[in-house]
Amino acid sequence: MEKKNIDWSNLGFGYIQTDKRFVSNYKDGAWDEGVLTEDATVVINECAGVLQYAQTIFEGMKAYTTKDGKIVVFRPDLNAARMADSARRLEMPVYPEDKFVEAIAKTVEANAAYVPPYGSGASLYLRPYMFGSNPVIGVKPADEYQFRVFATPVGPYFKGGAKPLTLKVSDYDRAAPCGTGHIKAGLNYAMSLHAIVTAHEEGYDENMYLDAATRTKVEETGGANFLFITKDNKVVTPKSDSILPSITRRSLMYVAKEYLGLEVEEREVFIDEVKDFAECGLCGTAAVISPVGKIVNHGEEISFPSGMEKMGPTIQKLYDTLTGIQMGTIEAPEGWIKVIC
Ligand SMILES: *Cc1c(COP(=O)(O)O)cnc(C)c1O
Repeated sequence: MEKKNIDWSNLGFGYIQTDKRFVSNYKDGAWDEGVLTEDATVVINECAGVLQYAQTIFEGMKAYTTKDGKIVVFRPDLNAARMADSARRLEMPVYPEDKFVEAIAKTVEANAAYVPPYGSGASLYLRPYMFGSNPVIGVKPADEYQFRVFATPVGPYFKGGAKPLTLKVSDYDRAAPCGTGHIKAGLNYAMSLHAIVTAHEEGYDENMYLDAATRTKVEETGGANFLFITKDNKVVTPKSDSILPSITRRSLMYVAKEYLGLEVEEREVFIDEVKDFAECGLCGTAAVISPVGKIVNHGEEISFPSGMEKMGPTIQKLYDTLTGIQMGTIEAPEGWIKVIC
């Protein structure tokens, strides 16, 4: 298969339309078979549930080329399961988990010419999503839904090295206890836009959100979970029911324990103890880990010993090991890598 003529190493993170996308419709209580289509346009009624009451959920994952030239995706079964959880919380029909993985495989295979070559640092980003598509005016769940998967090539996340980020402890809340913080829903992002635009205007890269009930415990940023490294090299991640369960973070905790022999802890992390950590990073599909250099908490500056120039040593090791597993240079745990073609 001939690759598209794209300057892979200079791609950013933006939408580029590819050849095919997967579409399946839910009607009269059942999903249809689903098809690949060239039509990138969605046509829905003006009163569609998604447009009125934001009944929509999504996932994010990547396909890439391994060292031996195979196109693979990383743990798509976990995206399938998480999307099922998101659907249940928003009273949407679950898209069957095995069919979800099949839809991912079909979309990747149909757009194989857009999967960047090994070593480029670029990847094919996949966006599965679902929304209520029939007219809904009284507040209730839609009766009809559309599930789609599109693909778009994205560039290497760290161009010219991973620069540590500066975070602000936000005065806004991301998620309420017993709310929707643990599901991947557009509504969580809509309400975070004002907070992130404000943080950017003030010169920060990201917001650190605290728990909404007490404002004492670390939750996450708008789109990534936290990892901290203690001075005695333990890996700590915040535990909370209102955090989105990042697949990258769960994979990194496994890698820390099983590959690097580090002690790992998932527990409540108080903002007051953050100053005692040696390293800090943000985990998510996009970057795997972005190092954090500084966190500003209302005038108090917390600077990590790892500094503002590069990743700290333990976060670097975690990054290298997980990306090695993904790229096929380090043996993966059973079931982590799904070969597409
Ligand atoms: C998607 C997402 C993450 C990262 O999850 P991954 O599965 O690692 O990509 C973290 N936090 C939020 C709020 C998210 O939406």
